[in-house]
Amino acid sequence: MPRYVMAFDAGTTSNRCILFEEKGIVCSVAQKEFRQIFPKPGWVEHDANEIWSTQMSVAAEAMKQVNAKAKDIAAIGITNQRETTILWDRKTGEPIHHAIVWQCRRTSEICDRLKEEGLTSMIREKTGLVIDAYFSATKIMWLLDHVSGAREKARRGDILFGTVETWLIWKLTRGKVHVTDYSNASRTMLFNIQTLSWDEDILRTLDIPREILPTILPSSHIFGMTDKSFFGEPIPIAGAAGDQQAALFGEACFSAGEAKNTYGTGCFLLMNTGESPVFSQNGLVTTVAWGINDRVYYALEGSIFVAGAAVQWLRDELGIINTAEESETVALQVEDTNGCYIVPAFTGLGAPYWDQDARGCIVGLTRGVNAKHLVRAVLESIAYQTADVLAVMQEDSGLALTALKADGGAAKNNFLMQFQADIIDVAVHRPACVETTALGAAYLAGLAVGFWDSIETLKSHWKIDRIFEPWMPDDVRREKLSAWNKAVARALNWS
Ligand code: ADP
Repeated sequence: MPRYVMAFDAGTTSNRCILFEEKGIVCSVAQKEFRQIFPKPGWVEHDANEIWSTQMSVAAEAMKQVNAKAKDIAAIGITNQRETTILWDRKTGEPIHHAIVWQCRRTSEICDRLKEEGLTSMIREKTGLVIDAYFSATKIMWLLDHVSGAREKARRGDILFGTVETWLIWKLTRGKVHVTDYSNASRTMLFNIQTLSWDEDILRTLDIPREILPTILPSSHIFGMTDKSFFGEPIPIAGAAGDQQAALFGEACFSAGEAKNTYGTGCFLLMNTGESPVFSQNGLVTTVAWGINDRVYYALEGSIFVAGAAVQWLRDELGIINTAEESETVALQVEDTNGCYIVPAFTGLGAPYWDQDARGCIVGLTRGVNAKHLVRAVLESIAYQTADVLAVMQEDSGLALTALKADGGAAKNNFLMQFQADIIDVAVHRPACVETTALGAAYLAGLAVGFWDSIETLKSHWKIDRIFEPWMPDDVRREKLSAWNKAVARALNWS
């Protein structure tokens, strides 16, 4: 009997492989970074062949750590950096260009043009997204226009498109299987989230040939078998989901109204809204959470650009802490921020403000404000930004949150978690397993092959490390939020 499910976590800066056993416990982990290529300011690329070779090397290493053979692995689940775009030659299997990474801004002008042409509401209604260089569609357009002969070849059906999971599955099956899952498809800006298919109108408008696109399948599904040459015996590839959606699944947010926040460099907040899409009136994105058992679940998503990155700023630019962890003890050495608020709008503000021209500010300074107050104000700013997104999420969805599940590097900070609970007046639950993204991919794959029998079983695995209950009096919370809102107003429309 197979003992493990193997998760491929194909991230933005590194690839990881984790083997999980039946209770969802981590048995081995291997991780390797790969090259970030910056051809021009604002441009970001990866070498797709390196993504592949790195992923295969960490898979071999993770298996070796526990001496696992192919027969010990029930299935492979893949989770990936989303939106990153790869085009490759169907015959040779060679990428026609470096992968264009989600962070890459090279297609901003194409997006401006599409907005000027009045496509904003059409794109929103069909895809749930805002027109932005972040999503795959304009990256595909750029590649077809800039790689010599690409458009011709694409029309002949000799070029294939894929996000990272599609590429890895194609490679693992030696070119037999060209597929994606609903969650990844919903990040391309080409996928109609109501009809659950590639949208012909959008394809025509953007002049993207249908032939290059993968088949769209549920996230928990046997997509194909790995070629025998890779692991000795074929292994089913049975799960795929974008990283944030996989984390939502790994956090066991299976029902409408359940939400998680990942506290990393930035924050990604996702709320499961159930089986029908909710369209935001407040700048959130509507996305597919996952497809499973002939059903599709949707999520509302809000991103915060600067969260843990502001803690790095305290450490690297201000030099008032030595490590990110230290921010917790320093913040606890003062009772409050002494009236000071920091809005870390270093790169503008995302949801729900969407102001590219916002810039960071420190307000409320008086003679007594010291470095400790600033550290505390930065941590609090992460919680305030999250509160702003959650407020509109609850308004848009009409669903009241019962608990917020937290993961990511900065979720280790107890002060931050407690302040978060206080400022949203909802309990924050921090799970014992912090590998929620990889776990989500493993769960999707394990369910498809019967390694786990049901979502109920997975729910029973979810173990809490710590619950942070809100205790702040209402009037104090209201006062703080109102001052924070004033601070945000000072940051808007600056540059
Ligand atoms: P990413 O996946 O975006 O690289 P991680 O989930 O690894 O991010 O989290 C790293 C981020 O979290 C960094 O920005 C770091 O400053 C912040 N961070 C890590 N530990 C702590 C901590 N104990 N308190 C506050 N911030 C932290």
